[in-house]
Amino acid sequence: MKPFQYATALSPAGARELAGEDGAYLAGGNDLLALMKEYLVEPRILVNIKSLPGLNRVKPGAKVWTLGAGVTVAELEDHEGVKKVFPGLQQAAAEVGSRQIRNVATLGGNLAQHSRCWYYRHRDILCLKRGGDTCYARHGENKYHSLFTGNTCISPVVSNLSVALTALEATVLVQRGDEQKRMTLKELYARAWDNPTAHNSLEPGDLILAVEIPVRGGSSAYLQASEKSAFDWALVSCAVAGRVKGGTITGARIVLGAVSPMPYEAAAANDSLEGKSLDAETAARAADLVLARAHAQAQNGYKIPIARALIQRSLLQLKAQS
Ligand SMILES: Cc1cc2nc3c(=O)[nH]c(=O)nc-3n(C[C@H](O)[C@H](O)[C@H](O)COP(=O)(O)OP(=O)(O)OC[C@H]3O[C@@H](n4cnc5c(N)ncnc54)[C@H](O)[C@@H]3O)c2cc1C
Ligand code: SF4
Repeated sequence: MKPFQYATALSPAGARELAGEDGAYLAGGNDLLALMKEYLVEPRILVNIKSLPGLNRVKPGAKVWTLGAGVTVAELEDHEGVKKVFPGLQQAAAEVGSRQIRNVATLGGNLAQHSRCWYYRHRDILCLKRGGDTCYARHGENKYHSLFTGNTCISPVVSNLSVALTALEATVLVQRGDEQKRMTLKELYARAWDNPTAHNSLEPGDLILAVEIPVRGGSSAYLQASEKSAFDWALVSCAVAGRVKGGTITGARIVLGAVSPMPYEAAAANDSLEGKSLDAETAARAADLVLARAHAQAQNGYKIPIARALIQRSLLQLKAQS
């Protein structure tokens, strides 16, 4: 590991100043320290943001809930209010890694974690994402990669929370320079869709302060399929949200994870459900619409039937919960 400085920030402005353009924010350290040990990132300074005031609070509200970026994944998993109001988010949190990881991992770090592509994570391979000129996964080992992408990199977003929060239409509050900026989840990952070197749309020094979730009076659900029953990322995940009354659904959102550089949704699928009776047939039709543009690589075609099943099951779970 390359030598680095270490400092603890006491305010967002202080954190921003300490980090400068070539520092890194240290939250739970699950991802950052692993990247540093492999020389994949070499920050001049680590700025500890765990003690920033207010960042570790869950603030319920009648219209909006505010989750501080430093709230741990385990706190989201255990929070009775989150479980009641945003069950899909609680389910997504409960599926992250293992309990030990969830105890340490934070909301902000989960959203900002880097690609898990094994070529990207190999210290001796300079792939496109690290500034090289080749995507080795395209014609190599692409079992865990994307079905949808807007650029040459086929590494998917693996943050469980990003998928659930997209379905919930959450907004991310970011400290950028002297200003606070609100970004939709779509905006938070839009750059990764277009640009092979990006993991998200954050700029150097951007600090995620909180996530705001509007209360829309409906329900939500999250399911994932993994190779191992615990301590593993999703092969495919699916979050859904919407209001179901008397079996009829309105305001549906279906979002897939681990299949695209950003949480993936298809407006046509959401629209197809509007005002419809939610049953196996309408759920299957919506799944077909979500997957209409899926493009499998040589080794990841198996993700398509898994995604189809997860979409149908999570929609029916939403109905059962309502
Ligand atoms: C074995 C294992 C299994 C895992 N399985 C899953 C899984 O199934 N699903 C899943 O979603 N995740 C999974 N994870 C990922 C884990 O949840 C993330 O590594 C973790 O959430 C990162 O959070 P952290 O707080 O440790 O972030 P850190 O490692 O401290 O930071 C990660 C990155 O985010 C940046 N960062 C942190 N906080 C902020 C902020 N507030 N503003 C801006 N940038 C910030 C850091 O600078 C760094 O670049 C797994 C990790 C491991 C090691
Ligand atoms: S998928 Fe992306 S991260 Fe993986 S080898 Fe290709 S360019 Fe690199």
